[in-house]
Amino acid sequence: MEKSFYSEEEVKKTAEKLHEKIKKTGFSLEECMAFAPLILEINRLKKEKNAVILAHSYQTPDIIYGTADFVGDSLELSRKASETKAGIIVFAGVKFMAETAKILSPEKTVLLPSIEAGCSLSESITAKDVQELKKKYPGVPVVCYVNTSAEVKAESDACCTSANALQVVEIFKENEIIFLPDNLMTKNIQNQTKKKIISWNGLCVVHKEFNTQQIEEVKRKYPGVKILVHTECNPTVVELADFSGGTSGMIKYAETHSDENFMMVTECGLSDRMRVELPEKKFVGTCELCPYMKKNTLELILQALKNPSQEQIIEVPEEIRLKAKKAIDRMMETKNFSD
Ligand code: SF4
Repeated sequence: MEKSFYSEEEVKKTAEKLHEKIKKTGFSLEECMAFAPLILEINRLKKEKNAVILAHSYQTPDIIYGTADFVGDSLELSRKASETKAGIIVFAGVKFMAETAKILSPEKTVLLPSIEAGCSLSESITAKDVQELKKKYPGVPVVCYVNTSAEVKAESDACCTSANALQVVEIFKENEIIFLPDNLMTKNIQNQTKKKIISWNGLCVVHKEFNTQQIEEVKRKYPGVKILVHTECNPTVVELADFSGGTSGMIKYAETHSDENFMMVTECGLSDRMRVELPEKKFVGTCELCPYMKKNTLELILQALKNPSQEQIIEVPEEIRLKAKKAIDRMMETKNFSD
């Protein structure tokens, strides 16, 4: 960034305000002082350009508490942004999320700060793979997790989130369902339905890493701890959970239970968010970092707002968008959309 044109006082005030919020996540005042000029400039440009910033819960606290208008999970954020009058959506998240925002808001410009923010699940499958699956299993409905590209959604009969995956699978009268791309989530669904679920071999690089030993260790160290597990984890880990579901469900559980200790078995960003938002509770145990989510930075958000490159502007061809939207609309029938 060029030389800051904000006064020392403005920078200090912004840094102190941010530090007060995020100190529980380990950030120092010096670090917040470095973030402050970027935050001030992002927030100025946001107003000037009529933009909203969406931050997924796995983003870093400087982005979430310094710049975001909405924080949450991918579909919830895209829906909220579509209801605003903003002309520009900056999605601090990964590519499939920005595509989902574009599917729901075709008239808005959607920007993805880091063009390297992919996703191991989304990238595990292409539209051609889905077409081949459909040839192999004719007449079998295809349900895709929201963590897929627009092209894959366009080839699917319905989309789903981690919160409503089972409900969406049950919408169909057929006894066989193709569920993609998350192999571990498929196993978790298979454990709850009588239908035969045909799986794909995608994995989330974050959630596949958790194991039962980590959970047992935390349970020994913090007797009575509540274990909240994302359903992208292995079924053996899900089995040890007091609650399993998506990020919104995990947040709701922590908010509404009076227990003292919680382990959020998911990406580290969610535990950090909880430390800021539920300071009276303790979030313990280990977590994993998503290398894709962490590609976004304040610098990239600022650059994208100022002068986005062609690659940062997310486009979805209209034919694909309409088909993908149909798959998302089918999911809406379940009335339970959070990830
Ligand atoms: S946490 Fe997993 S599913 Fe989410 S963006 Fe990262 S790799 Fe993809």
